[in-house]
Amino acid sequence: MSADLQNPAFHNDDKARETLEAIRWPNGPFCPHCGNSDQEKIAKGEGKAHRPGLYYCAECNGQFTVTVGTVMERSKIPLSKWLLAMHLMGASKKGVSALQLQRMLGVTYKSAWFLCHRIREAMTPAKRGPIGGQGRTVESDETVIGGKAKNRAYAKKPPKKHSVLTLVDRDGDSHSFHVANVKARTLRAAMVKVADRKSHLVTDELLSYGSIGKEFAGHTTVNHSANEYVRLGGFAHVNTAESRFSLMKRAVFGTHHSISEAHLPRYLAEWDFKWNTRKINDGERAALIAKGITGKRLTYRPTH
Ligand SMILES: [Zn+2]
Repeated sequence: MSADLQNPAFHNDDKARETLEAIRWPNGPFCPHCGNSDQEKIAKGEGKAHRPGLYYCAECNGQFTVTVGTVMERSKIPLSKWLLAMHLMGASKKGVSALQLQRMLGVTYKSAWFLCHRIREAMTPAKRGPIGGQGRTVESDETVIGGKAKNRAYAKKPPKKHSVLTLVDRDGDSHSFHVANVKARTLRAAMVKVADRKSHLVTDELLSYGSIGKEFAGHTTVNHSANEYVRLGGFAHVNTAESRFSLMKRAVFGTHHSISEAHLPRYLAEWDFKWNTRKINDGERAALIAKGITGKRLTYRPTH
Protein backbone atom coordinates (compact mmCIF):
# COMPACT_ATOMS: atom_id res chain seq x y z
CA MET A 1 0.00 0.00 0.00
CA SER A 2 3.03 2.31 0.14
CA ALA A 3 2.62 3.92 -3.27
CA ASP A 4 -1.09 4.50 -2.64
CA LEU A 5 -0.31 6.55 0.43
CA GLN A 6 0.96 9.34 -1.86
CA ASN A 7 -2.62 9.79 -3.08
CA PRO A 8 -3.39 13.54 -2.60
CA ALA A 9 -6.85 12.61 -1.27
CA PHE A 10 -5.12 11.34 1.87
CA HIS A 11 -3.45 14.70 2.51
CA ASN A 12 -5.71 17.37 1.07
CA ASP A 13 -9.33 17.84 2.14
CA ASP A 14 -10.48 19.32 -1.19
CA LYS A 15 -9.07 16.29 -3.02
CA ALA A 16 -10.63 14.02 -0.42
CA ARG A 17 -14.00 15.64 -1.01
CA GLU A 18 -13.65 15.24 -4.79
CA THR A 19 -12.80 11.58 -4.30
CA LEU A 20 -15.84 11.02 -2.09
CA GLU A 21 -18.07 12.82 -4.59
CA ALA A 22 -16.80 10.64 -7.43
CA ILE A 23 -17.49 7.50 -5.37
CA ARG A 24 -20.87 8.53 -4.04
CA TRP A 25 -22.11 10.40 -7.10
CA PRO A 26 -20.83 8.61 -10.20
CA ASN A 27 -23.59 10.30 -12.24
CA GLY A 28 -23.34 13.73 -10.66
CA PRO A 29 -24.67 15.04 -7.35
CA PHE A 30 -28.15 14.33 -6.09
CA CYS A 31 -30.02 16.27 -3.46
CA PRO A 32 -30.35 14.27 -0.21
CA HIS A 33 -33.34 16.40 0.83
CA CYS A 34 -35.69 15.85 -2.10
CA GLY A 35 -33.89 13.24 -4.18
CA ASN A 36 -33.47 15.56 -7.18
CA SER A 37 -30.69 14.40 -9.49
CA ASP A 38 -31.47 16.68 -12.45
CA GLN A 39 -28.08 18.32 -13.02
CA GLU A 40 -29.80 21.38 -14.57
CA LYS A 41 -31.37 22.07 -11.19
CA ILE A 42 -28.24 21.65 -9.10
CA ALA A 43 -25.62 24.39 -8.82
CA LYS A 44 -22.26 24.28 -7.12
CA GLY A 45 -21.39 27.14 -4.78
CA GLU A 46 -18.18 28.74 -5.98
CA GLY A 47 -15.76 31.05 -4.24
CA LYS A 48 -14.70 31.77 -0.71
CA ALA A 49 -18.15 32.81 0.47
CA HIS A 50 -19.28 29.21 0.32
CA ARG A 51 -18.49 26.22 2.45
CA PRO A 52 -16.32 23.84 0.42
CA GLY A 53 -18.31 21.34 -1.59
CA LEU A 54 -21.63 23.11 -1.10
CA TYR A 55 -24.39 22.51 -3.67
CA TYR A 56 -27.74 24.22 -4.12
CA CYS A 57 -30.89 22.41 -5.22
CA ALA A 58 -33.34 24.46 -7.27
CA GLU A 59 -36.05 21.85 -6.77
CA CYS A 60 -36.35 22.26 -2.99
CA ASN A 61 -34.11 25.30 -2.41
CA GLY A 62 -32.01 23.13 -0.13
CA GLN A 63 -28.24 23.05 0.31
CA PHE A 64 -26.08 19.99 0.66
CA THR A 65 -22.59 18.56 0.53
CA VAL A 66 -21.43 15.00 -0.14
CA THR A 67 -21.27 14.28 3.60
CA VAL A 68 -24.78 15.49 4.51
CA GLY A 69 -26.57 12.85 6.52
CA THR A 70 -23.43 10.78 7.01
CA VAL A 71 -21.32 10.26 10.09
CA MET A 72 -18.65 12.51 8.55
CA GLU A 73 -20.94 15.54 8.40
CA ARG A 74 -20.40 16.83 11.90
CA SER A 75 -17.14 15.04 12.59
CA LYS A 76 -14.14 17.20 13.39
CA ILE A 77 -11.85 14.66 11.79
CA PRO A 78 -10.68 16.02 8.41
CA LEU A 79 -12.04 14.21 5.34
CA SER A 80 -8.52 13.33 4.14
CA LYS A 81 -7.96 11.42 7.38
CA TRP A 82 -11.26 9.60 7.03
CA LEU A 83 -10.18 8.46 3.58
CA LEU A 84 -6.72 7.43 4.72
CA ALA A 85 -8.23 5.47 7.61
CA MET A 86 -10.60 3.68 5.19
CA HIS A 87 -7.68 2.79 2.96
CA LEU A 88 -5.47 1.54 5.81
CA MET A 89 -8.21 -0.54 7.39
CA GLY A 90 -9.32 -1.98 4.08
CA ALA A 91 -5.80 -2.84 2.95
CA SER A 92 -4.58 -4.40 6.18
CA LYS A 93 -4.74 -8.19 6.27
CA LYS A 94 -4.34 -8.32 10.03
CA GLY A 95 -6.52 -5.39 10.99
CA VAL A 96 -5.58 -2.03 12.41
CA SER A 97 -5.98 -1.12 16.06
CA ALA A 98 -7.10 2.31 17.24
CA LEU A 99 -3.61 2.80 18.70
CA GLN A 100 -1.96 2.13 15.32
CA LEU A 101 -4.42 4.44 13.60
CA GLN A 102 -3.74 7.16 16.18
CA ARG A 103 -0.03 7.04 15.32
CA MET A 104 -0.47 6.75 11.55
CA LEU A 105 -2.99 9.58 11.27
CA GLY A 106 -1.74 11.86 14.00
CA VAL A 107 -5.16 12.10 15.65
CA THR A 108 -6.19 11.57 19.27
CA TYR A 109 -6.84 8.03 20.51
CA LYS A 110 -10.51 8.93 20.95
CA SER A 111 -10.78 10.04 17.31
CA ALA A 112 -8.91 6.95 16.11
CA TRP A 113 -11.22 4.67 18.09
CA PHE A 114 -14.25 6.49 16.66
CA LEU A 115 -12.88 6.14 13.11
CA CYS A 116 -12.18 2.42 13.55
CA HIS A 117 -15.70 1.68 14.66
CA ARG A 118 -17.43 3.83 12.07
CA ILE A 119 -15.34 2.20 9.35
CA ARG A 120 -16.20 -1.27 10.63
CA GLU A 121 -19.82 -0.24 10.53
CA ALA A 122 -19.37 0.82 6.90
CA MET A 123 -18.01 -2.66 6.17
CA THR A 124 -21.27 -4.16 7.44
CA PRO A 125 -23.59 -4.77 4.50
CA ALA A 126 -27.14 -3.46 4.87
CA LYS A 127 -28.47 -6.71 3.45
CA ARG A 128 -26.85 -10.09 3.05
CA GLY A 129 -27.79 -12.88 0.75
CA PRO A 130 -27.99 -16.51 1.80
CA ILE A 131 -24.72 -18.44 2.01
CA GLY A 132 -24.49 -21.35 -0.45
CA GLY A 133 -27.25 -22.81 -2.60
CA GLN A 134 -27.89 -25.76 -4.87
CA GLY A 135 -24.67 -27.43 -5.98
CA ARG A 136 -22.57 -25.30 -3.65
CA THR A 137 -20.47 -26.31 -0.69
CA VAL A 138 -20.81 -24.48 2.62
CA GLU A 139 -18.29 -24.94 5.37
CA SER A 140 -19.31 -24.26 8.92
CA ASP A 141 -16.85 -23.82 11.73
CA GLU A 142 -16.98 -22.57 15.27
CA THR A 143 -14.30 -20.98 17.33
CA VAL A 144 -13.86 -19.28 20.65
CA ILE A 145 -12.20 -15.91 20.76
CA GLY A 146 -11.03 -14.00 23.79
CA GLY A 147 -10.40 -15.57 27.14
CA LYS A 148 -6.63 -15.45 26.86
CA ALA A 149 -4.83 -13.57 29.58
CA LYS A 150 -1.99 -12.76 27.16
CA ASN A 151 -0.98 -9.09 27.00
CA ARG A 152 -2.81 -8.38 30.21
CA ALA A 153 -1.57 -7.65 33.69
CA TYR A 154 -1.53 -10.91 35.66
CA ALA A 155 -3.80 -9.47 38.33
CA LYS A 156 -6.59 -8.87 35.86
CA LYS A 157 -9.16 -11.45 34.93
CA PRO A 158 -8.77 -12.82 31.40
CA PRO A 159 -11.23 -11.27 28.94
CA LYS A 160 -14.55 -13.02 28.43
CA LYS A 161 -14.75 -15.81 25.86
CA HIS A 162 -17.09 -15.57 22.93
CA SER A 163 -18.23 -18.34 20.62
CA VAL A 164 -18.25 -17.42 16.96
CA LEU A 165 -19.87 -19.36 14.15
CA THR A 166 -18.72 -18.80 10.57
CA LEU A 167 -20.43 -20.11 7.44
CA VAL A 168 -18.37 -19.92 4.28
CA ASP A 169 -19.45 -20.68 0.75
CA ARG A 170 -16.33 -22.31 -0.62
CA ASP A 171 -16.54 -20.16 -3.73
CA GLY A 172 -18.43 -17.23 -2.30
CA ASP A 173 -19.12 -15.17 0.79
CA SER A 174 -18.76 -15.74 4.47
CA HIS A 175 -21.03 -14.74 7.32
CA SER A 176 -19.97 -14.83 10.97
CA PHE A 177 -22.01 -14.50 14.11
CA HIS A 178 -21.60 -14.36 17.80
CA VAL A 179 -23.48 -17.34 19.28
CA ALA A 180 -24.29 -17.91 22.93
CA ASN A 181 -22.86 -21.45 22.77
CA VAL A 182 -22.24 -24.25 20.30
CA LYS A 183 -25.14 -26.48 21.34
CA ALA A 184 -27.15 -28.06 18.52
CA ARG A 185 -30.21 -25.89 19.02
CA THR A 186 -28.21 -22.65 19.07
CA LEU A 187 -26.20 -23.54 15.98
CA ARG A 188 -29.30 -24.61 14.09
CA ALA A 189 -31.14 -21.37 14.89
CA ALA A 190 -28.22 -19.36 13.53
CA MET A 191 -27.51 -21.58 10.53
CA VAL A 192 -31.02 -21.82 9.12
CA LYS A 193 -31.26 -18.05 8.99
CA VAL A 194 -28.17 -17.72 6.84
CA ALA A 195 -27.26 -20.91 5.01
CA ASP A 196 -29.25 -22.21 2.06
CA ARG A 197 -30.08 -25.80 2.99
CA LYS A 198 -29.84 -26.87 -0.65
CA SER A 199 -26.07 -26.64 -0.11
CA HIS A 200 -23.70 -29.44 0.77
CA LEU A 201 -22.55 -28.87 4.33
CA VAL A 202 -19.02 -29.60 5.53
CA THR A 203 -18.27 -29.43 9.25
CA ASP A 204 -15.99 -30.88 11.86
CA GLU A 205 -17.22 -33.76 13.99
CA LEU A 206 -18.92 -31.63 16.61
CA LEU A 207 -22.02 -33.58 17.64
CA SER A 208 -24.14 -30.45 17.45
CA TYR A 209 -24.03 -30.67 13.66
CA GLY A 210 -25.54 -34.17 13.56
CA SER A 211 -29.22 -33.26 13.24
CA ILE A 212 -28.89 -29.97 11.36
CA GLY A 213 -26.62 -31.75 8.89
CA LYS A 214 -29.56 -33.95 7.85
CA GLU A 215 -31.50 -30.86 6.77
CA PHE A 216 -28.90 -30.02 4.12
CA ALA A 217 -28.60 -31.61 0.68
CA GLY A 218 -25.63 -33.50 2.06
CA HIS A 219 -23.35 -33.40 5.07
CA THR A 220 -19.71 -34.42 5.30
CA THR A 221 -17.80 -34.31 8.53
CA VAL A 222 -14.06 -34.07 8.85
CA ASN A 223 -11.97 -35.20 11.73
CA HIS A 224 -9.38 -32.48 12.21
CA SER A 225 -6.97 -34.74 14.02
CA ALA A 226 -7.07 -37.68 11.64
CA ASN A 227 -5.63 -37.72 8.17
CA GLU A 228 -9.03 -37.57 6.53
CA TYR A 229 -8.17 -34.90 4.01
CA VAL A 230 -6.39 -37.54 2.00
CA ARG A 231 -8.94 -40.28 2.60
CA LEU A 232 -11.77 -38.23 1.20
CA GLY A 233 -9.81 -37.21 -1.83
CA GLY A 234 -9.60 -33.63 -0.66
CA PHE A 235 -13.31 -33.02 -0.89
CA ALA A 236 -14.16 -32.85 2.75
CA HIS A 237 -11.99 -30.13 4.10
CA VAL A 238 -12.85 -27.14 6.19
CA ASN A 239 -9.76 -25.32 5.04
CA THR A 240 -11.69 -22.34 3.75
CA ALA A 241 -13.31 -21.62 7.08
CA GLU A 242 -10.12 -22.53 8.90
CA SER A 243 -7.91 -20.18 6.91
CA ARG A 244 -10.41 -17.47 7.56
CA PHE A 245 -10.41 -18.26 11.27
CA SER A 246 -6.65 -18.25 11.53
CA LEU A 247 -6.68 -14.81 9.92
CA MET A 248 -9.27 -13.60 12.37
CA LYS A 249 -7.60 -15.11 15.40
CA ARG A 250 -4.26 -13.59 14.44
CA ALA A 251 -5.93 -10.23 14.14
CA VAL A 252 -7.91 -10.55 17.31
CA PHE A 253 -5.05 -11.75 19.45
CA GLY A 254 -2.29 -9.89 17.68
CA THR A 255 -3.93 -6.54 17.02
CA HIS A 256 -6.71 -6.13 19.52
CA HIS A 257 -6.15 -7.06 23.14
CA SER A 258 -9.73 -7.85 23.83
CA ILE A 259 -13.06 -7.31 22.20
CA SER A 260 -16.18 -6.48 24.15
CA GLU A 261 -19.39 -8.30 23.44
CA ALA A 262 -21.04 -5.07 22.31
CA HIS A 263 -18.43 -4.47 19.61
CA LEU A 264 -17.90 -8.06 18.51
CA PRO A 265 -20.43 -7.97 15.63
CA ARG A 266 -18.51 -5.10 14.03
CA TYR A 267 -15.21 -6.98 14.21
CA LEU A 268 -16.86 -10.02 12.68
CA ALA A 269 -18.36 -7.85 9.94
CA GLU A 270 -14.87 -6.51 9.23
CA TRP A 271 -13.50 -10.02 8.76
CA ASP A 272 -16.41 -11.12 6.64
CA PHE A 273 -15.96 -7.99 4.53
CA LYS A 274 -12.26 -8.73 3.98
CA TRP A 275 -13.02 -12.29 3.00
CA ASN A 276 -15.87 -11.28 0.72
CA THR A 277 -13.73 -8.68 -1.03
CA ARG A 278 -10.61 -10.84 -1.25
CA LYS A 279 -10.62 -10.76 -5.04
CA ILE A 280 -10.64 -6.98 -5.48
CA ASN A 281 -7.75 -4.55 -4.96
CA ASP A 282 -7.14 -2.17 -2.07
CA GLY A 283 -8.43 0.88 -3.93
CA GLU A 284 -11.69 -0.84 -4.87
CA ARG A 285 -12.08 -2.05 -1.29
CA ALA A 286 -11.55 1.48 0.09
CA ALA A 287 -14.17 2.80 -2.37
CA LEU A 288 -16.66 0.18 -1.10
CA ILE A 289 -16.02 1.34 2.46
CA ALA A 290 -16.53 4.97 1.43
CA LYS A 291 -19.82 3.99 -0.19
CA GLY A 292 -20.81 2.19 2.98
CA ILE A 293 -20.08 5.25 5.09
CA THR A 294 -21.87 7.76 2.89
CA GLY A 295 -24.79 5.42 2.29
CA LYS A 296 -25.61 5.03 5.98
CA ARG A 297 -27.81 7.60 7.57
CA LEU A 298 -26.60 9.29 10.67
CA THR A 299 -28.62 7.81 13.50
CA TYR A 300 -26.79 9.36 16.43
CA ARG A 301 -24.73 12.39 17.16
CA PRO A 302 -20.98 11.90 16.88
CA THR A 303 -19.00 13.58 19.61
CA HIS A 304 -15.79 14.10 17.65
ZN1 LIG B 1 -33.58 19.19 -3.28
